[in-house]
Amino acid sequence: MNGRMLRELELAEVYALVKGAGAEGRKGEGDRDENDSIAQAPSSATSLLSPPPLRPSAPSPSNMSWAELREAAAKCVACGLCRGRKQAVFGVGAEQGPWLFVGEGPGADEDEKGEPFVGQAGKLLDSMLAAAGLQRGRDAYIANVVKCRPPGNRTPTPEEAAACAPFLDRQIDLVAPKVIVALGKTAAAHLLATDASVGSMRGKVHDYRGRPVVVTYHPAYLLRNLPDKAKAWEDLLFARRVFAG
Ligand code: URA
Repeated sequence: MNGRMLRELELAEVYALVKGAGAEGRKGEGDRDENDSIAQAPSSATSLLSPPPLRPSAPSPSNMSWAELREAAAKCVACGLCRGRKQAVFGVGAEQGPWLFVGEGPGADEDEKGEPFVGQAGKLLDSMLAAAGLQRGRDAYIANVVKCRPPGNRTPTPEEAAACAPFLDRQIDLVAPKVIVALGKTAAAHLLATDASVGSMRGKVHDYRGRPVVVTYHPAYLLRNLPDKAKAWEDLLFARRVFAG
């Protein structure tokens, strides 16, 4: 069993605990740190002589519906980012795809509104999408590698990205995109497990779990480096060709 599978099991337990919390009570989210394990308290019906049930039917993120996944993300405490969030920023847009854009993680505006890419970078993303004939609600789903705002808008750590991966993976499965566009280095590094530069990954078709991935610059980077907008435009045209097969 690899780290990601373990993490999925942990998230499934969190979800089961949240759903099933009742008279026995549950540990408050604020009381938990990322090293805590969530042990199920034996119920009065569980004798010390009989082994506890093996997590009977805890849903795992890998088979949750959109509603279940959104609820689990809202209550997730799988990494320390949950401590600083106002709310989890789950994802938005066309749940049936066929396009999926993946950013890094929510900033202050997104944490406030609960929707990805609503600040200046989001406005640029929307105008880039419009120029390519796409709209976030109609053709594209937009998600982030991590669902909770990193403090001070720092880059999420690989551990935080890994803790959140079951959510993104399930979003990818549910959207079933024809093309995934990785916006910036964090998204590309996470999806493609590489430390390569965005520049070196552009213009190639990469693969994430059998789906084509195209890499381009993050809109926030483009706001600071306006001349590279032309390259991002080339990347979108390239992605459209990949989309068209
Ligand atoms: N940057 C991101 O990567 N994602 C957002 O949602 C907003 C800014």
